[in-house]
Amino acid sequence: MALPTLVDPRKLANQGIVLEGHFEAKHLPRLALSVESIESPLSALLTFGLDEAKAKVVGGTLGVAVKVVCQRCLDPVIVDVNAVFSAQVIWSEDQISSVSGDREPWVVGEKMVDLSEMLEEEVLLALPLVNYHEEGCCTGDTFVTEKDSGADTKNDEVVADNPFNILKQLKK
Ligand SMILES: [Zn+2]
Repeated sequence: MALPTLVDPRKLANQGIVLEGHFEAKHLPRLALSVESIESPLSALLTFGLDEAKAKVVGGTLGVAVKVVCQRCLDPVIVDVNAVFSAQVIWSEDQISSVSGDREPWVVGEKMVDLSEMLEEEVLLALPLVNYHEEGCCTGDTFVTEKDSGADTKNDEVVADNPFNILKQLKK
Protein backbone atom coordinates (compact mmCIF):
# COMPACT_ATOMS: atom_id res chain seq x y z
CA MET A 1 0.00 0.00 0.00
CA ALA A 2 1.29 3.47 -0.84
CA LEU A 3 1.87 5.70 2.17
CA PRO A 4 0.09 9.08 2.23
CA THR A 5 2.45 11.89 1.20
CA LEU A 6 0.89 14.63 3.30
CA VAL A 7 -0.01 13.77 6.88
CA ASP A 8 -1.06 15.57 10.05
CA PRO A 9 1.45 13.97 12.46
CA ARG A 10 -0.15 15.44 15.61
CA LYS A 11 -3.53 14.00 14.75
CA LEU A 12 -1.92 10.64 13.93
CA ALA A 13 -0.16 10.74 17.32
CA ASN A 14 -3.34 11.62 19.20
CA GLN A 15 -5.10 8.71 17.55
CA GLY A 16 -2.20 6.26 17.98
CA ILE A 17 -2.15 5.42 14.29
CA VAL A 18 0.15 2.79 12.79
CA LEU A 19 1.06 3.34 9.14
CA GLU A 20 2.63 0.62 7.03
CA GLY A 21 3.39 0.98 3.36
CA HIS A 22 5.81 2.35 0.84
CA PHE A 23 6.85 5.31 -1.26
CA GLU A 24 7.82 4.85 -4.90
CA ALA A 25 11.23 6.15 -6.00
CA LYS A 26 9.65 9.20 -7.67
CA HIS A 27 8.89 10.57 -4.18
CA LEU A 28 12.60 10.44 -3.23
CA PRO A 29 14.37 13.03 -5.42
CA ARG A 30 17.17 13.81 -2.94
CA LEU A 31 17.96 10.13 -2.43
CA ALA A 32 17.99 9.69 -6.22
CA LEU A 33 20.72 12.34 -6.44
CA SER A 34 22.83 10.57 -3.79
CA VAL A 35 22.89 7.11 -5.40
CA GLU A 36 23.23 5.57 -8.87
CA SER A 37 19.62 4.43 -8.76
CA ILE A 38 16.85 3.47 -6.36
CA GLU A 39 16.16 -0.24 -6.75
CA SER A 40 13.06 -0.73 -4.63
CA PRO A 41 10.25 1.31 -3.13
CA LEU A 42 11.00 2.72 0.32
CA SER A 43 9.00 0.61 2.75
CA ALA A 44 8.22 1.80 6.26
CA LEU A 45 6.35 0.91 9.41
CA LEU A 46 5.49 3.95 11.54
CA THR A 47 3.87 3.98 14.95
CA PHE A 48 2.50 7.35 16.08
CA GLY A 49 1.58 8.01 19.70
CA LEU A 50 1.90 10.10 22.85
CA ASP A 51 4.57 9.60 25.50
CA GLU A 52 4.05 9.99 29.27
CA ALA A 53 4.43 13.77 28.94
CA LYS A 54 1.88 13.81 26.09
CA ALA A 55 4.61 14.67 23.59
CA LYS A 56 3.73 13.58 20.07
CA VAL A 57 6.16 10.91 18.97
CA VAL A 58 6.68 8.50 16.11
CA GLY A 59 8.81 5.39 16.01
CA GLY A 60 9.64 3.76 12.74
CA THR A 61 11.61 1.26 10.74
CA LEU A 62 12.33 1.61 7.06
CA GLY A 63 14.17 -0.12 4.27
CA VAL A 64 15.11 0.59 0.68
CA ALA A 65 17.52 -0.96 -1.82
CA VAL A 66 19.82 1.41 -3.69
CA LYS A 67 22.51 0.96 -6.30
CA VAL A 68 25.78 2.68 -5.43
CA VAL A 69 29.40 2.42 -6.54
CA CYS A 70 31.64 -0.10 -4.80
CA GLN A 71 34.71 1.82 -3.61
CA ARG A 72 36.96 -1.20 -4.09
CA CYS A 73 36.20 -2.13 -7.71
CA LEU A 74 34.13 0.89 -8.86
CA ASP A 75 31.41 -1.40 -10.20
CA PRO A 76 27.79 -0.90 -9.10
CA VAL A 77 26.65 -2.69 -5.97
CA ILE A 78 23.13 -2.93 -4.55
CA VAL A 79 22.92 -2.06 -0.87
CA ASP A 80 19.95 -2.52 1.44
CA VAL A 81 19.62 0.54 3.62
CA ASN A 82 17.70 -0.08 6.81
CA ALA A 83 17.01 2.38 9.59
CA VAL A 84 15.25 2.47 12.92
CA PHE A 85 14.34 5.86 14.29
CA SER A 86 12.37 7.64 16.96
CA ALA A 87 11.25 11.24 16.55
CA GLN A 88 9.24 13.86 18.39
CA VAL A 89 7.02 16.35 16.59
CA ILE A 90 7.72 19.98 17.52
CA TRP A 91 6.46 23.28 16.12
CA SER A 92 9.80 25.05 15.83
CA GLU A 93 13.48 24.74 16.67
CA ASP A 94 12.79 26.73 19.85
CA GLN A 95 11.33 23.53 21.27
CA ILE A 96 14.35 21.32 20.56
CA SER A 97 15.29 21.41 24.27
CA SER A 98 12.01 19.61 25.05
CA VAL A 99 12.99 16.64 22.88
CA SER A 100 14.49 13.80 24.91
CA GLY A 101 17.98 12.67 23.95
CA ASP A 102 16.94 9.34 22.44
CA ARG A 103 14.68 11.07 19.90
CA GLU A 104 15.24 13.23 16.88
CA PRO A 105 13.38 16.51 16.64
CA TRP A 106 10.88 16.55 13.77
CA VAL A 107 10.10 20.21 13.14
CA VAL A 108 6.60 20.49 11.70
CA GLY A 109 5.71 24.19 11.57
CA GLU A 110 2.33 23.69 9.97
CA LYS A 111 -0.52 21.28 10.40
CA MET A 112 0.43 19.03 7.51
CA VAL A 113 3.86 17.74 6.56
CA ASP A 114 5.38 15.74 3.73
CA LEU A 115 6.00 12.28 5.17
CA SER A 116 8.13 11.14 2.24
CA GLU A 117 10.60 14.00 2.90
CA MET A 118 11.00 12.94 6.50
CA LEU A 119 11.58 9.29 5.62
CA GLU A 120 13.95 10.28 2.83
CA GLU A 121 15.98 12.24 5.37
CA GLU A 122 16.21 9.13 7.56
CA VAL A 123 17.46 7.07 4.61
CA LEU A 124 20.10 9.69 3.79
CA LEU A 125 21.29 9.59 7.41
CA ALA A 126 21.50 5.80 7.31
CA LEU A 127 23.19 5.59 3.91
CA PRO A 128 26.81 4.41 4.37
CA LEU A 129 29.40 6.93 3.15
CA VAL A 130 31.38 4.22 1.41
CA ASN A 131 30.02 0.95 0.06
CA TYR A 132 31.65 -2.32 -0.94
CA HIS A 133 30.59 -5.60 -2.47
CA GLU A 134 30.51 -8.46 -0.01
CA GLU A 135 33.75 -10.42 0.24
CA GLY A 136 34.05 -12.86 -2.64
CA CYS A 137 31.59 -10.88 -4.79
CA CYS A 138 33.92 -8.00 -5.62
CA THR A 139 36.14 -7.96 -8.67
CA GLY A 140 38.45 -5.82 -6.52
CA ASP A 141 39.20 -9.02 -4.55
CA THR A 142 40.34 -10.89 -7.62
CA PHE A 143 42.38 -7.92 -8.72
CA VAL A 144 44.48 -8.40 -5.57
CA THR A 145 45.13 -12.10 -6.31
CA GLU A 146 45.91 -11.26 -9.91
CA LYS A 147 48.70 -8.88 -8.99
CA ASP A 148 51.32 -11.61 -8.35
CA SER A 149 50.75 -13.56 -11.53
CA GLY A 150 50.69 -10.41 -13.62
CA ALA A 151 48.46 -12.27 -16.05
CA ASP A 152 45.78 -10.40 -17.92
CA THR A 153 43.13 -13.00 -17.18
CA LYS A 154 39.38 -12.54 -17.11
CA ASN A 155 37.62 -12.39 -13.76
CA ASP A 156 36.11 -15.89 -13.72
CA GLU A 157 39.44 -17.47 -14.56
CA VAL A 158 41.01 -15.58 -11.71
CA VAL A 159 38.35 -16.87 -9.34
CA ALA A 160 39.24 -20.44 -10.32
CA ASP A 161 42.92 -19.71 -9.73
CA ASN A 162 42.24 -18.30 -6.30
CA PRO A 163 44.15 -20.60 -3.87
CA PHE A 164 41.21 -20.65 -1.47
CA ASN A 165 38.90 -21.97 -4.16
CA ILE A 166 41.40 -24.70 -4.96
CA LEU A 167 41.58 -25.63 -1.27
CA LYS A 168 37.80 -25.80 -1.20
CA GLN A 169 37.79 -28.12 -4.18
CA LEU A 170 40.43 -30.37 -2.61
CA LYS A 171 38.32 -30.72 0.53
CA LYS A 172 35.36 -32.02 -1.44
ZN1 LIG B 1 33.35 -4.31 -5.58
